[in-house]
Amino acid sequence: MGATKHNWTKDEILEIYNKPLMELLYQAATVHREQHDPNTVQVSTLLSIKTGGCSEDCGYCPQAARYHTNIEGNDLMSVQQVKAQALRAKESGSSRVCMGAAWRNVKDGEEFDQVLEMVRTINKLDMEVCCTLGMLTENQAKRLAEAGLYAYNHNLDSSEEYYKEVISTRGFEDRLQTIDNVRKTNVTVCSGGIIGMGEKVEDRAGMLVALSTLNPQPESVPINALVAVEGTPLEDQEPVSIWDMVRMVATTRIVMPETQVRLSAGRTQMTQEGQAMCFFAGANSIFAGDKLLTTPNPDVNEDMKMFDLLGLNPQKPFTKKVQPQTVEATDSQYQDLGEKPKWSRPGHTIERNEAAKEKAKADK
Ligand code: SF4
Repeated sequence: MGATKHNWTKDEILEIYNKPLMELLYQAATVHREQHDPNTVQVSTLLSIKTGGCSEDCGYCPQAARYHTNIEGNDLMSVQQVKAQALRAKESGSSRVCMGAAWRNVKDGEEFDQVLEMVRTINKLDMEVCCTLGMLTENQAKRLAEAGLYAYNHNLDSSEEYYKEVISTRGFEDRLQTIDNVRKTNVTVCSGGIIGMGEKVEDRAGMLVALSTLNPQPESVPINALVAVEGTPLEDQEPVSIWDMVRMVATTRIVMPETQVRLSAGRTQMTQEGQAMCFFAGANSIFAGDKLLTTPNPDVNEDMKMFDLLGLNPQKPFTKKVQPQTVEATDSQYQDLGEKPKWSRPGHTIERNEAAKEKAKADK
């Protein structure tokens, strides 16, 4: 078992990505077997606890308020609603619940306190709890950790260069800063990206450089295939080919051997054979549930049938790391600091984002 390498270069990663496919699959599957049980796949459930109305301009996202995408928005869910859904997820084989809120960044106050209570509640159900809430200060990360958070998701989305072609309302360095804030706690890091947004293969490699040179590397890396939603700036993107997905998963596995590689959005466009190839290439996690935040996802029963067919077993919770302790709000050693951090707002113009915004205005 080789030591994890933290100084990957773009050229080295491109060389791996572009190998003859059988070579690439063999190498990735070998690395996978050295570090993980190849027949175990984690099942996570993604819950949208606050949907739509987001102030950001992410070109792929139907939840951005400025685009016209017909999604049904909702305010922050109650703790009881979240608990009921987490219990349902647990019964159907999920070991992790990931709660997503369409926020630019976390704001101290009542809503964040409610999210902290959700974290406490799910951790007490003996499930791994993950949150994706936008940018985060160090104090907020510590409060989440104290509540019992297992993982924080904050995707880099693409390479630093291509990020500027997709999002203008925040900078790549803010993403890295949030990951750094999470790393000051014992919460694990989940960070990955999306392929099929019109980026070059070099951008895919660039994203993997940014992730694999973090030390430690993220414990979890989701690889998403763009689901092009009508009304978003990326609505006309062609679906990414399964071969690109397999290559991306395999390369991720090789450069981040210990990481849990997640086959995330875009599974509805993949056949079972395609997904099986991704598992062989080193993917060892999926998201379950009929929706991934707002986009369609395979039915959980179909997933369980696929697991039976392929002889896969759902991973038990806390297999990779012990369960965090939950500290009650009344015993917390951290306070609501009412912070107002200055996250960047580059505000450069992305033509397709502007066009989608104008079209949404005209449609109103
Ligand atoms: S990806 Fe997140 S931050 Fe970007 S628009 Fe969607 S909800 Fe907002």
